[in-house]
Amino acid sequence: MSYQYDLFVIGAGSGGVRASRVAASKGYKVAVAESSALGGTCVNIGCVPKKLFVYGSEFSHVAQDAKGYGWSFPEPSFDWKTLRDNKTKEIERLNGIYGNLLASPGVEVIDGHGKLVDAHTVEVAGKTYTAERILIAVGATPFVPDIPGKEHVVVSDNMFYLEELPSKALVVGGGYIAVEFACILKGLGVDVTLAYRGDQLLRGFDSDVRAFASQEYIRLGVDVRLNTDVSSISEDDGIKRVTFKDGYDEDFGLVLYATGRVPNTASIGLADVGVDTSGKGAIKVNRNYQSSVPSIYAIGDVTDNIQLTPVAIKEAMALLDYWFEGRDVQLDYDNIPTAVFSQPQIGTVGLSEDDADSKGMDIRVYQTDFKAMKNTLSGNEGRSFMKLIVNNENDKVIGAHIVGDYAGEIIQGLGIAIKAGATKAHFDSTVGVHPTSAEEFVTFS
Ligand code: NDP
Repeated sequence: MSYQYDLFVIGAGSGGVRASRVAASKGYKVAVAESSALGGTCVNIGCVPKKLFVYGSEFSHVAQDAKGYGWSFPEPSFDWKTLRDNKTKEIERLNGIYGNLLASPGVEVIDGHGKLVDAHTVEVAGKTYTAERILIAVGATPFVPDIPGKEHVVVSDNMFYLEELPSKALVVGGGYIAVEFACILKGLGVDVTLAYRGDQLLRGFDSDVRAFASQEYIRLGVDVRLNTDVSSISEDDGIKRVTFKDGYDEDFGLVLYATGRVPNTASIGLADVGVDTSGKGAIKVNRNYQSSVPSIYAIGDVTDNIQLTPVAIKEAMALLDYWFEGRDVQLDYDNIPTAVFSQPQIGTVGLSEDDADSKGMDIRVYQTDFKAMKNTLSGNEGRSFMKLIVNNENDKVIGAHIVGDYAGEIIQGLGIAIKAGATKAHFDSTVGVHPTSAEEFVTFS
């Protein structure tokens, strides 16, 4: 049987672009279908524009912090449209780069929504294309629970294009996106309430990190309300009236739901061709990302694996190795470092203390909290937190956790150390970089 393409990819996000361009650069005939801008969630409505907004938001502290260092500035003012539109220009530049990355090895980019027709055929905008292998990399989309008035809320996708910033906002949820946007909005001058249904934000993170970060968000001025949920929302003249489950009503200019993301699989014809999915619509794959239909594969947020851009990219590379080099190397999903770009940032890798306890491990824990040096002259009351978890059986460091400035940058190096199996003795024998916050990790005793 001959096909038009060796590989047809549905979705030009982080995983899909990597798989397409590397396969094409190896001489395979590749097409990718994309209904929106190239680069997917991360580039267009996720990691990249979010980080630009974080930078924008953090400038709000600069004028105040600089005073103790002798600087004075006129009263700062902020223009939302400048940040939003400069961000959009930068994203458009990146879209162009993604276009070139695909064009130069000869990937054919097909504009439109891809839908499976059979095990080797995809339909895009009324035309069909056949391929030996099909890769689904369509990502995930925000989930909003079914509450009365859900049509009045926005999701993270919308935050990048708001016409105006509200003066008062409610953020619902307690995960990555909720805390990041609560802090971004606060820094940009919005009065922010963060409502979470559970008893502490950031479920899944180390308990001390969760408690410490939550205190810092409160210090930043975010109104953190735990054990709180929304029962309904109505709108009058642009104002959202939110009724909370305890019966209390409050008005907000904007309500952002950041209550998780679900695989984007509703309309790509999975059931018609027999691709099995989990309850939430995630494509079930084996260790080589192969679905229940042998010619159809899936990577990234559309599966049940960890929803992070670098994970999708690693999956794409593992899959290409498997297909074209015959290497069956299982990706290691343990010890994946990650950062939450809240203010302060959180960096984490390996096990939390709670994880280690629940596994019955014999551990010792080192932790500290302190005022970073930069905050001494500035008078900024913000504090940092660092924690190491060590396995007593072999002295290996099995978890590192940070809340503080540059946590995202620091945790990358610690991720390498933990991946390499570093012991506490290795940490102790490493000379600290002085004066930094990160040197705490090599001076714990
Ligand atoms: P998360 O899964 O991190 O958090 C979802 C939050 O919504 C949880 O607090 C959850 O509560 C709450 N929630 C879920 N359902 C409901 C409901 N019906 N009513 C009220 N609250 C609800 O999802 P996010 O959307 O924040 O992010 C999705 C993923 O994207 C992340 O897990 C992460 O992998 C990735 N991401 C990574 C970033 C980074 O690397 N910096 C940044 C942003 C996203 P509960 O805990 O009780 O279930």
